[in-house]
Amino acid sequence: MIECTFAIIKPNAVRSALAGEILRRYETARYRLLAMKLVHPTREKIAGFYAEHEGRPFFPGLCDFMSSGPIVVLALEGEDAIAGVRALNGATDPAKASPGTIRHAFGPTMGSNVVHSSDSTESAAREISYWFSPEELVQYTMKSSLADV
Ligand code: UDP
Ligand code: MG
Repeated sequence: MIECTFAIIKPNAVRSALAGEILRRYETARYRLLAMKLVHPTREKIAGFYAEHEGRPFFPGLCDFMSSGPIVVLALEGEDAIAGVRALNGATDPAKASPGTIRHAFGPTMGSNVVHSSDSTESAAREISYWFSPEELVQYTMKSSLADV
């Protein structure tokens, strides 16, 4: 099924100039960019985004980390995009992530893994609308090569 999902390139990855490499992995897997922007979120914006985790011991540190610098927020579309992007990202704990995944490649720790992506159709819809207005979701056809226009 064609799905939309939401992803974040986290602040440590942006600071380390890994945004392009991470985006390349999503593009290479043929997920279509629906929307993308670089933002430095407030702690309050992040706390609302991660509201499902409020009260967990890691929540304050997660909010501090995620608001520590600019992040790239992305909406992506493609066949089974929700599970597919999570598979590209790998396990939450980079120490347990499979070789070939983004979290395996870049670590560095559970609390500061370099990417986020939605875990269900409901969270994808909520997360996309949390960061993007409807006009920011752009429709176009993805082509297989520059020659194929
Ligand atoms: N997290 C953490 N400790 C935990 C669980 C989660 O530091 O025990 C952090 C981790 O950085 C993760 C984020 O909180 O990416 C959100 O947690 P979630 O369980 O939703 O993992 P994800 O969906 O990002 O794999
Ligand atoms: Mg999650």
